[in-house]
Amino acid sequence: MHKHLWYDATKVYINGVWKAPASGQQLPLQNPSTGEEIGSIARGQAADIDQAVTAAQNALDGEWGRTSALERGRILTRIGQLVQTRIDDLAMIEAMDVGKPLTQSRNDAIALARYMEFYGGAADKVHGETIPYLDGYTVYTLREPHGVTGHIVPWNYPMQIIGRSVGAALAMGNACVLKPAEEACLTALAFVALAEEAGLPAGALNVVPGLGAEAGAALTAHPGVHHISFTGSVGVGKLVQIAAAENVVPVTLELGGKSPQIVFSDADLDAALPFLVGACIQNAGQTCSASSRILIQRDIYDDLVAKMGARFDAMVSAPARMDANLGPLISARQKAIVTGYIKAGSDLRIVGQGSIHKDAPDAGHYVPATMFADVPPDHKLAQEEIFGPIQVVIPFDTEEDAIAIANGTEFGLVASIWTRDGARQMRMAKRIKTGQVFINNYGAGGGVELPFGGAGKSGHGREKGFEALYGFSALKTVAAHHG
Ligand code: NAD
Repeated sequence: MHKHLWYDATKVYINGVWKAPASGQQLPLQNPSTGEEIGSIARGQAADIDQAVTAAQNALDGEWGRTSALERGRILTRIGQLVQTRIDDLAMIEAMDVGKPLTQSRNDAIALARYMEFYGGAADKVHGETIPYLDGYTVYTLREPHGVTGHIVPWNYPMQIIGRSVGAALAMGNACVLKPAEEACLTALAFVALAEEAGLPAGALNVVPGLGAEAGAALTAHPGVHHISFTGSVGVGKLVQIAAAENVVPVTLELGGKSPQIVFSDADLDAALPFLVGACIQNAGQTCSASSRILIQRDIYDDLVAKMGARFDAMVSAPARMDANLGPLISARQKAIVTGYIKAGSDLRIVGQGSIHKDAPDAGHYVPATMFADVPPDHKLAQEEIFGPIQVVIPFDTEEDAIAIANGTEFGLVASIWTRDGARQMRMAKRIKTGQVFINNYGAGGGVELPFGGAGKSGHGREKGFEALYGFSALKTVAAHHG
C-alpha cells in the first residue's frame, strides 16, 4: 500500500508546504482492524493553526482571492478528476485508517470526486439579485465568501465530509483550514496533495491534523476565522458554538441523530427490509444519519421483527480488507462506549445478533451487529446516539403515535416513512421534525445534490447540494442612488 503514498502523513500542510508541526510532536496512527500502531501523524497545535489561518488570509488577499468563479470551478473539477484516478488508492487508505470495509471506503472516494464535480460546476452559477426600490435607486445583492473558513471533520466519513464542506467553501471563494480527526486524517492529507496537483493555489486549503482539544480548539477560537463548519458530537458542537460566539462568527453544526424509519402495515415490506438493516449497520453504525430506530405498526410487527432479526444474525464483522458487512469500530474507546450500550440493554430482548469473523484479530475493535426489540421509546437505547451497529425496534399503533415517537428524541436529522398511502406520506413528511425525510427509501443513495442538516440537537445549517453555497457565502446589499 505504501508505494501509493503521495503525501506525508507525519506533516502538516500549510501554504502549499509540507512541514513538521511546530511542536515537533507526533501522535500514534492505528489500524482499527488490527489494533496495531502503523505509523504516526503530526500533532498540530495552536502555532500551526495560526500559521494556517495566516496562509489562508494571504491566499484571499492574493492569487486565490483574484481567481474568478469560473476558474475556481475549473480547479475543483480538475481535483475531482484527479480523485477519480485515485479511487482505489484512496479506498485502501481509508480502509486502513478507519477500518471501513473496502466497498464502503470506495463509495466515499467516489462521493468525494462527485462533490468536486458538483461544486466545480456550481461555482459560477450562484447569482445575486436586483431589487426593485425607490425611484432613483438601483439595488442589487452580491454573494461573497466569508473569508477564512474552519472545517473540523470527524473520523467516520472523512472523504465525504471534506467533499461537502471544503468543496462548497472553495467554490464560493473562501480559503480553508481543515482540522481532520486525530483517529483518521490520512485521506485529508491525500486529498490536499491532489488539490495542489490540480492547481489549487497555495494557502487556499491548509490541513492541520492534531487533537481536538489542541488544534481543534485553537481553530475555533482563532479571531482570523470567519466561519466554522463542524461535524461531530453534541458536546463538542456546543463548545464550537460557544467559541464561535466569542468571535461572533457563523457556524454550521452537524451533530448526528437517532434517525427513525417508520413502517406502516401497507408498506412494501420486501423493499423496506434491506434498508431497515443496512441503514443501521453501514460503517458499523458510525454514521451520523444511521437509522438506529425502527418503528413498526403493530399488525406487521412480529413478522417483520423476525425477518430483520434473521438478517442481523447473518451479519459478519471482519477486517476492512475482507470487505464484510461490517468492519471494526474506530477505536477501543468507541468499542467500550458501544459495548456499554449493549449492557444497558440487558433488560431488553435481543432478537438478532451477528458474529465476528474468526480471522478478525483480537486487538481489533469489533462489536457484533445487535438488534433489540420491544424497546420502550423512552429507554436509553431508544433515545441516545450509540454510534455502533445497534438497532432498536419499537411497535406503534396509529399515525399519531408514530409521529410522537419519531419526534420524541432531542435529535432530528433524518427520517423515513414506508407506506403506500400518498396522503399519509404528505402528512407525515410535514410533521416530522428532521432536516431530511425519505418516502419509501432511506437516504436516496446519499446524493451530493440533496441539502442535509439537522433540527434540534442534530445541529443547524445546511450542507450538501446548492444550499451549502449560500451557507458558505455572505450576502451584501448594494444600493446606488443615481437620481
Ligand atoms: P468529537 O466531537 O470529539 O470529534 C469530532 C471532531 O472534533 C474531531 O476532529 C475532533 O478532533 C474535534 N474536536 C474534539 N474536541 C474539540 C474541541 N474542544 N474543539 C474543537 N474541535 C474538537 O467526536 P468523537 O469523540 O470522535 O466521537 C464521540 C461521539 O460523537 C460518537 O460516539 C458519536 O456519537 C458522535 N460523533 C458524531 C459524528 C457525526 O457524524 N455527527 C461524527 C463523529 C462522532
